[in-house]
Amino acid sequence: MANLNRRTLLQGTATATTAALVAGGAAVLSKPALARPAQALRPPGALPEREFLAACVRCGLCVRDCPPQNLKLSTWGSGLAVDVAIGTPYFEARAIPCEMCEHIPCVKACPTGALDHALTDINKARMGTAVLIDQENCLNFLGLRCDVCYRVCPVIDKAITLEKMNNPRSDRHAMLLPTVHAEHCTGCGKCEKSCVLEEAAIKVVSTKIARGELGHHYRKNVVQRSDVGHVGETRAGDKVEATPGLPRFGQPTQRLPEVPHEGDLNPLRSGAAPYQPAPIMGSKPGAAP
Ligand code: SF4
Ligand code: SF4
Ligand code: SF4
Repeated sequence: MANLNRRTLLQGTATATTAALVAGGAAVLSKPALARPAQALRPPGALPEREFLAACVRCGLCVRDCPPQNLKLSTWGSGLAVDVAIGTPYFEARAIPCEMCEHIPCVKACPTGALDHALTDINKARMGTAVLIDQENCLNFLGLRCDVCYRVCPVIDKAITLEKMNNPRSDRHAMLLPTVHAEHCTGCGKCEKSCVLEEAAIKVVSTKIARGELGHHYRKNVVQRSDVGHVGETRAGDKVEATPGLPRFGQPTQRLPEVPHEGDLNPLRSGAAPYQPAPIMGSKPGAAP
């Protein structure tokens, strides 16, 4: 009986261990599905990643209907696909970018809506966002004239512009700096593909990684461009001086809370009364809390 109990116990332990290993293995195997590399881009119109993974049935129809064959279905353990959920479509901009087909056949082919059929204008696709990731090696930043990425962009002068700045090295020559404007960038990857460097200085990565997000108590100035520089006006009506030759980035301004609260930085709040903690019931004025 004792042996039987011992055997039963060992079998039970083994079963539990196996179950734990299987569960652990499943957890490890499922993890990469949500941790795809930043350079693995989804086709146009792809839903947010979690919803996309739930909706995509891995049929490969988008891949079949993609004329330049830039889309691939991820397979087990090769290249970038090693971290992309198996069987799902993706592309690598540096290998073959999206051609931004006018009629978006990949989206039309998708039977489940994982590629959103509401996307009918390819210029509104947001597959990722281009980022000039390495200013130290970009030829334009080194003072040379390259601007290949600027010239190949299908949304030229909107998604990417060349911003003129003085070259601090010579103080005489101008630098034309490729500058991406995320609100217009489709993430097609043509700029990354065409960068002349051995490793691209401009890369398209998922927008989640490429972009920060202001605290919601901040607001952006409305900044307009003029021929002589960049003139702006805040929503509060404050004038922003023209600054010839500087990139046109809106300066965020902080909107302070209406009422002081604990932790306020009083010097920032010119003229406001300092925060006074409410007296604790029953305590004497001036007594330590
Ligand atoms: S828009 Fe064209 S090139 Fe781009 S992924 Fe779709 S079918 Fe392929
Ligand atoms: S990814 Fe590059 S080429 Fe494509 S729209 Fe954006 S800046 Fe232009
Ligand atoms: S193609 Fe590459 S090196 Fe040339 S300007 Fe663009 S990012 Fe810089």
